[in-house]
Amino acid sequence: MKKIAVLGSTGSIGVSTLDVVRAFPDHYQVIALSAGHNIDLLQKQIEIFCPQVVSVASEGDAQKLSQQLAGKNVQINFGVEGMILCATVSDVDMVVAAVVGAAGLIPTMAAIKSGKDVALANKETLVTAGSLIMAEAKKQGINLIPVDSEHSAIFQSLAGHRREDVRRLLLTASGGPFREYGLAQFDTITPTDALAHPNWDMGRKISIDSATMMNKGLEVIEARWLFDFPGSMIDVHIHPESIVHSLVEYQDGAVMAQLGVPDMKTPIAYALSWPERLPLTQQPLDLCKLGRLSFSEPDTERFPCLRLAYDALAMGGTVPAVMNAANEVAVEAFLNKRLSFLGISQVIEQTMSQHSGEELTSVDQALRADLWGRRKAHELMRGGLL
Ligand code: NDP
Repeated sequence: MKKIAVLGSTGSIGVSTLDVVRAFPDHYQVIALSAGHNIDLLQKQIEIFCPQVVSVASEGDAQKLSQQLAGKNVQINFGVEGMILCATVSDVDMVVAAVVGAAGLIPTMAAIKSGKDVALANKETLVTAGSLIMAEAKKQGINLIPVDSEHSAIFQSLAGHRREDVRRLLLTASGGPFREYGLAQFDTITPTDALAHPNWDMGRKISIDSATMMNKGLEVIEARWLFDFPGSMIDVHIHPESIVHSLVEYQDGAVMAQLGVPDMKTPIAYALSWPERLPLTQQPLDLCKLGRLSFSEPDTERFPCLRLAYDALAMGGTVPAVMNAANEVAVEAFLNKRLSFLGISQVIEQTMSQHSGEELTSVDQALRADLWGRRKAHELMRGGLL
């Protein structure tokens, strides 16, 4: 019986994780859950999974939840401290880090420091402070298992091979809903258009990141830290069918890949059960029915965010944290109709260009860079960059 904490339990990954847990009650027990503001869903999850400890974003929501749950034996916390408590409960074996954005950094680091294994969905944590997270994971001797489907595929394609034989990692990308758009059409894109991902049903922020292809940029940086290969060994291929989840090419020309229907339950279940596999009952992959799979090069002129992420990775230090922060601010502004779709990459590029990067030596410094990037992005938008 593995005892787990789910950070971000009310989100897309959190809900899918709990679906897997519910399907295997003899394998997993939920000890802690943390959510943001969706306390109604959290309440339902508490009733089903009976965690010992939960957390929500605000004190007001914590009080409301206490009233709704009167008489129930569960400790209710709030804020960053609350998430840390959930991530470090002594009974917990594995923390599923599925909060969205850099908000996941502190609780994920706390989980690692207290010796928990981590199933990591929250890619922004590695973008903001990848070197520090990986160093701490190594120091504590914990397992950091990727949940992101591309990284799960690479993790599986590397297994049983020598890393010195790797020629390159190949991340696949669906290309998002605007893969076929000409440059002129990007002017007209609305949040509703951008939220309609062709293959995956995901949270709002990652859906916009997929539409701009910043998601793939974040994943390149995530892969750099998870697998310890430089950006020059990480390539991206557009693969609209989202069946080949990613590949590893070896120096003899052999290429290993992991395939499957696009369903996050597969990589989530693998992260929970690694090195074993759970008998999931989802739809099997039928290659004959699919008929063909297609691949092409990404276009960084139409999707500049991918280029910006490679640039940030090459610059290193605090630059990826600043890029990530500017992206979070710009995506939120786009979703609230305060910024155009094209404005997202402009805000990120201008924020990055005004940052003097420093070598990254502490989490506090990463958080300061994150805050600087947020303030600068807001300032640029107030200055009329739309
Ligand atoms: P969602 O937006 O669906 O969920 C985010 C979760 O984080 C929710 O539970 C939300 O709470 C909580 N949350 C947000 N901000 C805070 C905060 N400040 N404090 C505490 N909790 C907070 O996101 P996804 O599930 O789509 O994505 C989660 C992470 O996984 C992201 O980093 C994403 O890039 C990554 N990922 C997602 C995939 C997917 O298919 N969705 C695939 C691969 C990676 P609430 O809703 O209650 O406010």
